[in-house]
Amino acid sequence: MVAAVSLQNVHKVYDNTCVVNDLSLAIYPGEVFGLLGPNGAGKSTTIRMLTTLVQQTQGDIVVAGYDVSRQPAQVRRQIGVVLQQISVDADLTVWENMEFHGRMHHIPAAQRQVDIDRWLGYMGLSDRTHDKAKTLSGGLKRRLQIARALLHNPSILFLDEPTVGLDPQTRRRLWEIIRELNKEKGITMLLTTHYMEEVEYLCDRIGIMDKGRLIESGTLAELRQKHGEGIVMKQKGDRWEYLFFPTLGEANHYLDQQSDKTGMMTRPANLEDIFVELTGRNLD
Ligand code: ADP
Repeated sequence: MVAAVSLQNVHKVYDNTCVVNDLSLAIYPGEVFGLLGPNGAGKSTTIRMLTTLVQQTQGDIVVAGYDVSRQPAQVRRQIGVVLQQISVDADLTVWENMEFHGRMHHIPAAQRQVDIDRWLGYMGLSDRTHDKAKTLSGGLKRRLQIARALLHNPSILFLDEPTVGLDPQTRRRLWEIIRELNKEKGITMLLTTHYMEEVEYLCDRIGIMDKGRLIESGTLAELRQKHGEGIVMKQKGDRWEYLFFPTLGEANHYLDQQSDKTGMMTRPANLEDIFVELTGRNLD
């Protein structure tokens, strides 16, 4: 299958510092791929390169069949982008924000009106059509950003930290919307996050980035199988020590055999544990 997004040996250097280091990755049509990593890992820079906003220093990037360096305009027609900073125009109405984007993409007037109505409906924004964007809550502004990013009918959507700063309920609603978009409309997605629950809920495959490098990738099941599905936690002073076991059953068995179980417990391993195991640090 031809990849929807492909990076080969990609580097990005800022001020003599390599912030994306030899990144190779393929994302296939219909996948939701999550790039997970702590702040400064290079996730946003990767999205910025994939969406033609900054040029890679070295390496090849192909998005929707087009080379981002040589065919940036074709790439932009095929992608929708939701950046971290809320980028809607606060003093325009919801409709005007959509209209402006539609004109930028030269969508013919009649079709533009139909599509704006449809996407605002899909995102639950129909009753706010004529309100200024600045009157929307954070969650609704994010929905407007997504509606706008989809107006020109892209096949790939890039979402940089889509739910950062949103309350848990709003975050959950956005996850549902993102999942529906993928399942119902077949849109390929790349999202960055440092919330492991977001990855666990949304992503078919995961790439873990740290210090500019992709240090692990696969499905959650593959990563858990590789690193261990069960954990024994042991309190040592004010910190926890972790021991990985292939299954939770084996972790429980190990705990049962200990004569002194004080400060010890077992649980299923999650992505955060795997990240800590790989890097020695937490995600936040
Ligand atoms: P993440 O999205 O994972 O938090 P970023 O891609 O934003 O990481 O940043 C990776 C590194 O690149 C950071 O150390 C950041 O300071 C640096 N960086 C990002 N953009 C620029 C820039 N325009 N100029 C210089 N350094 C930058």
